[in-house]
Amino acid sequence: MRQNKAQVFVISGPSGSGKTTLLSSVLKEKTLQKKFARSVSFTTRPRRSKEQNGKDYFFISEAEFKKSLRAKKILEWTRYLSYYYGTPKEFVDNQLKTGKHILLCLDFKGALRIKKLYGNHCTTIFILPPSLTELTKRIEKRCHLTKREEIEQRLQLAKEEISTASKYDYCLLNDNLKTVVEELKAIITKKINPQS
Ligand code: ADP
Ligand code: 5GP
Repeated sequence: MRQNKAQVFVISGPSGSGKTTLLSSVLKEKTLQKKFARSVSFTTRPRRSKEQNGKDYFFISEAEFKKSLRAKKILEWTRYLSYYYGTPKEFVDNQLKTGKHILLCLDFKGALRIKKLYGNHCTTIFILPPSLTELTKRIEKRCHLTKREEIEQRLQLAKEEISTASKYDYCLLNDNLKTVVEELKAIITKKINPQS
């Protein structure tokens, strides 16, 4: 079986659509775990209670973020609500050099940028929630402490984000978690082992 060149997978979707849950499920599979690295972004947004610094995000100040941008340590970045998010350049470069495939959770701006940088070695996947009602429930369930105003803003942005779904290589409906995990694994496995 011929091994393909290191690949980059970008997962996008509205806040609460299930990106983090799906990536964690995929990476639980031992055979994929060894071959993949998940990029951990920098963010200036406050940490949620269940999140860990260095695992979910690197939580940094706005001043630190801007310093990293000026030092060209950020491969691509975005502003979402009033917060900055950025992909660590050195980490991605190093992982790709060692032949590891990369998984990234990015917004539409990030997906476009990474596609431009990596071309055919990049696969973009959009995660659709079953409905806006279900999405609201999932956002609320994830963090009871998130301000009502922020939940409303995230739902507003969700509508715009869903309108970009057709620009992605794949679009998956995250209704039944088990099914969508298998679909995602199938897309990834086919791309990294094109002749299997
Ligand atoms: P995102 O990373 O896209 O913001 P999360 O992965 O944090 O979203 O998921 C938001 C919430 O929805 C979490 O509480 C998660 O457990 C739940 N969730 C994700 N996928 C499903 C699913 N298929 N069915 C039910 N709940 C789900
Ligand atoms: P959240 O606050 O829900 O964790 O993330 C908000 C949005 O920012 C999500 O769409 C997420 O995928 C996106 N995001 C997280 N990190 C990055 C990043 O480094 N770059 C870009 N472009 N988007 C990111």
